[in-house]
Amino acid sequence: MTRTSIIGGNWKMNLTLTLAERLAQELRNRLGSHRGGQLVVFPPFVFIDAVRRRLRDSAVEVGGQDLHPLPKGAYTSGVSAEMLASLGCTRVLVGHSERRAWFGDSDARVAEKLKAALSSGLKPVLCIGETLEQRQSGATESVLRRQLETALGAHGAAALSDLVVAYEPVWAIGTGVTATPEQAQATHAFVRSEFARHFGAAFAEALRIQYGGSVTADNAAALLSCPDIDGALVGGASLDANGFTTIARAGARRS
Ligand code: PEP
Repeated sequence: MTRTSIIGGNWKMNLTLTLAERLAQELRNRLGSHRGGQLVVFPPFVFIDAVRRRLRDSAVEVGGQDLHPLPKGAYTSGVSAEMLASLGCTRVLVGHSERRAWFGDSDARVAEKLKAALSSGLKPVLCIGETLEQRQSGATESVLRRQLETALGAHGAAALSDLVVAYEPVWAIGTGVTATPEQAQATHAFVRSEFARHFGAAFAEALRIQYGGSVTADNAAALLSCPDIDGALVGGASLDANGFTTIARAGARRS
């Protein structure tokens, strides 16, 4: 089956308002009428509204980098799913490894956030990945299985129809060390087989799995040519409009 590619740009904690607006405008100029694959950028919360205004009615969607699991209340600095949706966000990252490492997001917390995203209508991008130590000790598959099973919990296939999974080996994020296409393909095939086991072959075949970890304009095409790699989640290289455009076009060639 042909899966529509999806390329994400995770801006993390970068830029200022002026620079975020400029980057959004540059993306609009280059990719505003992009065809052949979905595009989404994840700006810092404080810039979402400004970025969204610049990308309105363009092919580039806007999403949140995280969300609070609860809908509202006395949770200082929290940002709820409903708040993101009210800004025009269509998607949200859940379980990014930097959230897990820096903010203590456990598998159980990731599961709560996924549930909150799903019940609000935001389309989640569930991030999973192993550390270098886990890969070297042969634990990659058991770690990914645990992350998936805890996050997906009791959800049925229907609730997960808009789910995108981002496989992001922690050792490849922001390090300049990319998984080889062979390593990434093998792990994506494993992730897809896990979905087949839990939700059936048709669900697994339709599921989109992004690769993330030091994707650049130079290595994107090789990664995206692998049969089970349906897109990319791009950090550092998404801050450069030219680089992100090249990656987006590699994604479109895959679609
Ligand atoms: C990410 O933040 O999801 C990521 C993959 O970052 P980078 O591309 O910088 O490795």
